[in-house]
Amino acid sequence: MSNSAYRLAALLLALGIFLFDVLSPLEGAIAVLYVLVVLVAARTLRRVDVLVAAAGTIVLTLLAYAISHGLEDFGSPALRATVSLAAIAIATVLALQSQAATATLAAQARLLNLSHDMIFVRDIRGVITFWNDAAAEVYGWSADEAIGRVADELLGTKYPADRAVVEAALLKNGRWEGLLEQRTRTGARLVLDSRWAMQRDRFGNNVGVLETHTDITERQAAHAALVRSERRYRRMFDSSRIGVIEEDWSAVRTELANLAEAGTSISDHLAANPDFYARARRLIKILDVNAALLSMVSAHDRMQLLTTLDDVLGAADTTFAGALVAFARGDAFYEGETEMVSSDGKSFPVLFTITFPSSPDDGGKALVYVMDITERKRAQDAIQQAQAELAHAARVATLGELTASIAHEVSQPLMAVVTNGEAGMRWLRREPPEFNEVEIALGRVVAEGRRASDIVKRIRAFLMKAPSHRDELALSALLEDAAALVQRELAKVNVQLKIELQPHLPNIRGDRVQLQQVLVNLMINAAHAMAGQRGARMQFITAAKTEVNDIEIIVRDTGPGIPHEHLQRLFEPFFTTKPDGMGMGLAICKTTVEAHGGRMTVESLPGQGATFRVTLPSGDAFAAA
Ligand code: ADP
Repeated sequence: MSNSAYRLAALLLALGIFLFDVLSPLEGAIAVLYVLVVLVAARTLRRVDVLVAAAGTIVLTLLAYAISHGLEDFGSPALRATVSLAAIAIATVLALQSQAATATLAAQARLLNLSHDMIFVRDIRGVITFWNDAAAEVYGWSADEAIGRVADELLGTKYPADRAVVEAALLKNGRWEGLLEQRTRTGARLVLDSRWAMQRDRFGNNVGVLETHTDITERQAAHAALVRSERRYRRMFDSSRIGVIEEDWSAVRTELANLAEAGTSISDHLAANPDFYARARRLIKILDVNAALLSMVSAHDRMQLLTTLDDVLGAADTTFAGALVAFARGDAFYEGETEMVSSDGKSFPVLFTITFPSSPDDGGKALVYVMDITERKRAQDAIQQAQAELAHAARVATLGELTASIAHEVSQPLMAVVTNGEAGMRWLRREPPEFNEVEIALGRVVAEGRRASDIVKRIRAFLMKAPSHRDELALSALLEDAAALVQRELAKVNVQLKIELQPHLPNIRGDRVQLQQVLVNLMINAAHAMAGQRGARMQFITAAKTEVNDIEIIVRDTGPGIPHEHLQRLFEPFFTTKPDGMGMGLAICKTTVEAHGGRMTVESLPGQGATFRVTLPSGDAFAAA
């Protein structure tokens, strides 16, 4: 009923009572019934309605009294009227008090309705007695539908533990908190963060429970998705057959940022402060490694490896400086080939890719993927070894053939020399000697001798035939290719190679493979010479233009050098000081260089290394020729 309806009802009731009071012959306290008018007016919950009803009924009581009894008679009717007035006054006071209490409760209920959480109150039997707006909205039942129903049945509540355990905790502490599941009207299941509080009356009796529920279904789903994703990545990390290292580069990032602020380039800084390289290696912390990496470095325990990059990167590494520069430049990743150290101190070759931290909120974490290539290298070495042996065998075979054909060609004139010599001697021993015949025989000896010499010259000319290709060759590329060919051979005996080219060198002309072979031979010879020595093993190759526009390539080493008595014979075929040497290398080098129109010389002070000088005409000279 609306407020107006209550007001109208109160008015009609008051008039009815008034008429009954005035017209009825009954002598009684009929005016007491006005209490009902006050109570009906109180239902509007408005204070003014109660006061108006009270005032109106008091006036009507007095009016009825005046009409029925006049104002002189103060007997028992006056007493009855007084009782009625007292009843109206008491009812008014109680109605006002009840209204005030109801208003307070309503205000509190409105507050609860403001909450986004679902709040309801149930009595100790579980029957719902209050149901806020959020509960109506989320669960789908209105307050009218929910009030009077048993909460657990309506919402199909599922508890994390036994219901009795929850109830026991609530009774003991007066509170309970936890996660539970409930169902909405449409059947959707909600995950709720719940807080319960026991409501007690002033005697301490439990009268109800206030339940507050926060819907965390989405949060829970997002969290579960995150956990699943984390598990998936963890599995990838752990089960990958490629070694993975998680590293913290934040300290290095700070150092690099400071350098950038000071306007220093990282390459300049590295050049001026060589110790920065070692310090940066120690600044990078290892946060985690996967199982594949553990077995790669023969470690048993992850903790064993949670040190710094310096502890796992080989001392001979040359890639870290490049990685620092790439990181400073903001590159997304950097890859290369280097050496790692296993827990027993042995180095092994690896291919790696570093994925750098891309944004500041990823905590400076980089992931390094590592692949052990020991086996691959071993296979490569075996192939190279086989190739070298094959080439050696081919050389020996060719040499054998050459020797046979030289022997064959030269043996004929030699036989003729011997035969004619013997004939001449026979003519000389005759009595008298036949000088004529002797002369003829000697003439044949000389002719056959010449023939043999011609054969030898022809073979020499054949061996020294001009290079088969005459290409225009850039010296830098030629040297780089040759260096790449011997790189592993040099690394094996720890030789450091430094190449320095004068800028803007003209090209040379010649056979790329043959010239490369010359350089390779010189570099390998130097490496072999230095293999057994202590201290630095350095090799320097420089190339510059001479005054007469030739190109001079100098190959110098810090090896033992060459004894004076050997220097003269160094380029002779078959001169070697090595037990398994053939002594053909330098001879072929010299022949090749000369076939290119160049010269080759050697100088050496024993104990101070050897210097080979190869002079070749430049492309300019060829063009001019
Ligand atoms: P092989 O290498 O088969 O001995 P080579 O003709 O290449 O044949 O070399 C001849 C010899 O020259 C070597 O045995 C070595 O004694 C000497 N030799 C060559 N290069 C160097 C060098 N850089 N330092 C010292 N000795 C060298």
